[in-house]
Amino acid sequence: MSGVNYGKMLDDRLAELERTGAKPTLLLHACCAPCSSHTLTYISRYFDITLYFCNPNIAPEAEYVFRLAELKRLVRELGMQIPIIEEPYDPAPFYELAKGLETLPERGERCRRCIEYRLRMAGEKARTLGLDLFTTTLTISPHKDAQFINECGGRISQECGVEYMYSDFKKHDGYKHSIELSHKYDLYRQDYCGCIYSKQNREAGKDVARP
Ligand code: SF4
Repeated sequence: MSGVNYGKMLDDRLAELERTGAKPTLLLHACCAPCSSHTLTYISRYFDITLYFCNPNIAPEAEYVFRLAELKRLVRELGMQIPIIEEPYDPAPFYELAKGLETLPERGERCRRCIEYRLRMAGEKARTLGLDLFTTTLTISPHKDAQFINECGGRISQECGVEYMYSDFKKHDGYKHSIELSHKYDLYRQDYCGCIYSKQNREAGKDVARP
């Protein structure tokens, strides 16, 4: 669906919820606190949100633990009562999907698989919990392909039977707002996307897709 305005799709949905007063349940996959900051402030009043921290791509473990801790702190700082489901640290599925793709540049096939894995986990979790919708904070990053993320979410929605909420959280200066909120709450802003390969690229001074 090339050329689809996913930001408008989200805004149309929010306007509809505003009009009807409905408040669906939403599983929001979260990659980190900075990306969640704008997203939560933008949509939290429209949904009954459960955050889902499932990011087996992140390395090393201390980084995983810290990004999760920062997400929890953000929710507290925002004064929101939002439950967070956290997956235990287990990078094995990531290394399996990345096999043979370790040296690819970022935004390539390894990244597509990485994103697809996390979206599938989110869709399955939403189905298990009986929630109305699922989506991800990942579309806020200007370094990630929002079209791919949304098309992937749409496909997974067909598989798991839970509606995917299309979005482009970078619209309306969402990314800029996330940086402002990160400064306001002194959030940790990592300088690499998450996996060990992106960390190595960062250390080698290559162009990297930080969140
Ligand atoms: S660079 Fe980011 S999106 Fe790509 S594989 Fe690594 S963690 Fe996943």
